[in-house]
Amino acid sequence: MKSLYPPVPPIPDENHHYWMSGIRGQDNIADYVLHIDALSGRVRTRKEFNELVLDGATALGAPVAQGGLGLSGEAGDIVGVYSTNCLDYIPLMHSLIAIATPFALISSFSTPFELSHALRTAKPTRLFVQPNLLSKALSAASEIGLPSDRIYVLEGHVEGRRSFADMVHYIRENKTAREPVRAVTKDTLAYLVFSSGTSGLPKAVMISHGNLWFTIQAYIVVLQEQLKHTQQVPPSTISRMLAALPFHHSYGLHMFCLRGFLFPMTYVILPKWGTKSVLEAISKYKVTVFPMVPSMLHQLVNSKLLDKADLSSVQQVMCGAAATPGDLVKKLRKSVPGFQEFMEGYGLSEVTVSACLKPPPGIYGLESIMGSCGTLLPGMEARLVKDDGSEAGVNEPGEIWLRGGNVALGYYGDEQATKETFVDGWLRTGDKLKTDGRNILYFVERVKDTLKISGVQVSPTEIENVIRAHPGNLIMDISVAGVSGGRTSDEKVPRAWVVLSDEGTNLGAEKTLKTLQQWVEKNLSRYKWLRGGLEVVDEIPKLPTGKVLRRVLQDRYEQRLRLP
Ligand code: AMP
Repeated sequence: MKSLYPPVPPIPDENHHYWMSGIRGQDNIADYVLHIDALSGRVRTRKEFNELVLDGATALGAPVAQGGLGLSGEAGDIVGVYSTNCLDYIPLMHSLIAIATPFALISSFSTPFELSHALRTAKPTRLFVQPNLLSKALSAASEIGLPSDRIYVLEGHVEGRRSFADMVHYIRENKTAREPVRAVTKDTLAYLVFSSGTSGLPKAVMISHGNLWFTIQAYIVVLQEQLKHTQQVPPSTISRMLAALPFHHSYGLHMFCLRGFLFPMTYVILPKWGTKSVLEAISKYKVTVFPMVPSMLHQLVNSKLLDKADLSSVQQVMCGAAATPGDLVKKLRKSVPGFQEFMEGYGLSEVTVSACLKPPPGIYGLESIMGSCGTLLPGMEARLVKDDGSEAGVNEPGEIWLRGGNVALGYYGDEQATKETFVDGWLRTGDKLKTDGRNILYFVERVKDTLKISGVQVSPTEIENVIRAHPGNLIMDISVAGVSGGRTSDEKVPRAWVVLSDEGTNLGAEKTLKTLQQWVEKNLSRYKWLRGGLEVVDEIPKLPTGKVLRRVLQDRYEQRLRLP
């Protein structure tokens, strides 16, 4: 299956800095406010940002003898970034792209256990950290042998430790010669972003410069087609977009940080999502564009604060990263009178960000296609493959395999998982979709084991491993899977089934389950907690090959729930 959009040009071997920063040929653009820190009110203009990116590239890439850090992707450097959203996060990434030195985005919600896993997987040689996460970072970094003097502050001040701003200041004071933008090929690694893939522990997805170029070109084609077919005109005033989704996840990363400067936009940056702070920021800064994920939409429409909030400035709402229930959209329409558009799509980190986008009504003769995730992005191809390996027909669900210039290079340091997921140029997504015969796709279900909670992937294997690692040796076997009980009707929550060991039996079932629940809460981020509960079973059902039949456990539980 092909996209309804025209294709994108072939991918060049070009550093993506030029496109993302839009610096080439745009020296004479009028300056405007690019970033606003919603909490402090601090602003950064587009021109200040451009200068900062180039000086940041010099501070990070210039030889040590000239006061730089001397970083180079060719020398094997990878720079970890461990922070909530903040102003300096974005220029730091752009500077690293300019000097072709990859970065690894680490979730700011990570517990020490998760942080260790991320560091062990990405193996950063330097780390930029937000001050209030520094103590966690220092202890996890010592486990992978990353010396303390290679850990820097991203934004703010910590006595005795250099920050990104200090490095840029030093370069500017010393008038160090600007580091040139470095040459790359389309397959040069640009960054690592964590995803759980179809199964197993979170993996570091490798995104190349070519993947970024393709993603932005596809976006340009979509915009051009929208303007052509709908007689829309680009906004005459500068839109203001709320940037409250995490920068470490591909959705927030692309929406707010890497999309480039195709037209002027002001980003109102919040460190993280919170209904109160989001509503305050929208009314204070007159936000016009509001991207979110379904679980946030759910929190918002069910919040008492919504009735009193002033959302009159909001013109466009976008919801992605998981299925968006129609009832939530209807509720939001009631509260946000000015809201015109609800853009849905489908994507995953392994295709850089998105694979499908819903075209507005009117394009290609399509009427409103509510509930669909749209058509493939320009230049992408898909197959829908049934369980028996044959191609699915119209309205028949099949696993979607994707091909295109945005398909990632693979998983960093995990050849086995790469081989299983990236097969003969196709990405096997682990998601079932169907088509209505017009090249419009509809999400059906996830075949993969991973859960999607609050727009973020949760790996059952990770939760199982944490429970197995309890020092009391309380269980013999375990399985974790998703069950009903999430914030939206489609969202599943994790539940654990355990077989007790002798130690667990001696402690007693009730105490064991309570101990394990507390252990999970200590070691894993809140969204991974066992909100679906825990249960003792005699055995975990398995195929003769040893593959756990999670579906059997899930069905048994759901049937019990339905009993009167
Ligand atoms: P991530 O890599 O964290 O972006 O997660 C990707 C996964 O999110 C996909 O493989 C899907 O399972 C899920 N997902 C993304 N978009 C949608 C959508 N529109 N509807 C349902 N699930 C989605």
